Amino acid sequence: MKIRFRGVRGSIPSPGSTTARYGGNTSCIEVRAGSEILILDAGTGIRSLGADLMKEFGSRPIDASILISHTHWDHIQGLPFFAPAFAANNRIRVIAPGNQAATLKRALANQMEPIHFPVGVEHMAGLGEVEELVSNTAIIGAFKISVTELNHPGGCAGFRVEANGVSLAYLPDHEPFCARGVVPKTAAAQSRAEALTEFVQGVDLLIVDAQYTAAEYPQRVGWGHGCLPNTVALAADAGVKQLALFHHDPAHDDHEIEAMLESARELALPNNMFISAATENETITLVSAAPKTSYRVSGVVHDSAKRSAPELLQPDCLKSRSS
Ligand SMILES: [Zn+2]
Ligand SMILES: [Zn+2]
Repeated sequence: MKIRFRGVRGSIPSPGSTTARYGGNTSCIEVRAGSEILILDAGTGIRSLGADLMKEFGSRPIDASILISHTHWDHIQGLPFFAPAFAANNRIRVIAPGNQAATLKRALANQMEPIHFPVGVEHMAGLGEVEELVSNTAIIGAFKISVTELNHPGGCAGFRVEANGVSLAYLPDHEPFCARGVVPKTAAAQSRAEALTEFVQGVDLLIVDAQYTAAEYPQRVGWGHGCLPNTVALAADAGVKQLALFHHDPAHDDHEIEAMLESARELALPNNMFISAATENETITLVSAAPKTSYRVSGVVHDSAKRSAPELLQPDCLKSRSS
């Protein structure tokens, strides 16, 4: 499984020389398993992904699924700039967590109303109807998807994605259920925290909201975002192999993110998990040590539409991806 960060910033794009190293685009992650393409969220980072896909596929049809965690701007705002969705020969599926299809459909249409945007959603000829995950586990092509509810105003879904014997968990916008030393630990909060730890247990890569430092968080309780020590504790408790700090605060420059990364590594000692700060355009490849497992089965989410035979990637396309 290859994971490429297309947008790693939270809340609002933050371009400029002080954020150039980690990147200023908002949430979007490209996940590939063989020839299959899964996209996690459609923040502004999806624009460059669309441009690259158009180059890679040329006149061949593009088949991709976009899984949306929630409808906050920083997770949907790039979709009107996703070029493949405007070509009728492409099949771009947009998939919402359970019971969220109507909300997502409305949000995507609203952001392309003339008051916000010059081109209506009806011009996106390659975009299918918004689909919905009918249960907390589903199969999308080669990917097995599990869903959990995160702690975020308005709600946000967290996803666990498994394919080819490896796994990642994506918890984009999440405030600790009980931040140590800040938020009183109730039995209900403790139970939800334990359930989330179980949900991400042992994943090869955990991508998780680490927006605030321990010093910043007490002034931002209830804003729905991560606090660094809790983020590290979640990863350590769950025994994940690799942690990527994600949803960087737009106010944090590259030096501040580096300092947070150092702090996270110190907090994680003596745990030997690898920690990085998610970096725009960085690619992480997860390789299974175990025999290959395939999740390809006949069912796909809830629609009965037949998937066209996926095109094979040219090996050169894979080789050209920088890491
Ligand atoms: Zn967000
Ligand atoms: Zn959000």
